[in-house]
Amino acid sequence: MTTHALKGKVIVQAHIKAVTGLRIGGAAGRFEIGGLDNPVIRDPVTGRPYIPGSSLKGKMRSLLTRALGRPVKELVRARRNSPAIHIHWCEPDEYQQDGAPCVLCRTFGTAGERAQEPGRLIVRDAHLLDELEVPDESGSIRRLSWDEVATELPYTEVKWEAVIDVITSAANPRQMERVPAGALFDAELLLAVYDEHDRECLRTLLQGMLLLEDDYLGSSGSRGYGRVRFQEVRLLWRPVAYYRDPQQHPEVKLAAGPSLADLWERFDEIVSHIWPEA
Ligand SMILES: [Zn+2]
Repeated sequence: MTTHALKGKVIVQAHIKAVTGLRIGGAAGRFEIGGLDNPVIRDPVTGRPYIPGSSLKGKMRSLLTRALGRPVKELVRARRNSPAIHIHWCEPDEYQQDGAPCVLCRTFGTAGERAQEPGRLIVRDAHLLDELEVPDESGSIRRLSWDEVATELPYTEVKWEAVIDVITSAANPRQMERVPAGALFDAELLLAVYDEHDRECLRTLLQGMLLLEDDYLGSSGSRGYGRVRFQEVRLLWRPVAYYRDPQQHPEVKLAAGPSLADLWERFDEIVSHIWPEA
């Protein structure tokens, strides 16, 4: 039996640092003659590259599916030729297991009529910060503004890479646009809390962020692209009464730390404010 009264929201704020060049494609796989072969996705208003919330969420979901060993099913293909997509979801009779809901479906949600209840997690688009972190000669990190660094295109570098033709073995150079190492993005992830089972959802969310740090974001991860790290992580709690009267019921700063690992080690202590009984 689940209740549907919102208790509050946990807000995770962090900077995402591109430790290596980051490529989230605007039109991945399309080869355009005369233009940039593989542009990165950019905000149409500001022209700045960004990390779509859907990319962050989708990547964490797929990493967690494997880490938790959850079964996957093939989605019905939109067209006969479209590639197969395998994701995890629960049918109604699979959702409750040993008295607890499936933590993956509960956190990330399930599509359409299969939805047992709304997904708890919202991931906002992560926008590029005005400063980036660049190591100097001594190896210490300096913060520079984008005007102080030279990039081939605004906020991005262009790499030439060889693609080997499998039949002729000819190397076809192509351009890969990417956001350079050191770029910082402003991330926000919000988790709706209804009952004690959502404690596991929060744990799963942080687990997904940790798994992402040991994997990659975007494309060409096997070439070393897309290594990211969460920095300056903050956890806030907004009780539902905050949305009525923030003076009487202010938000609570649960924790802040330079890294995700730092907060992860103190998880039980940090969340005891929301779930004192656990
Ligand atoms: Zn499930």
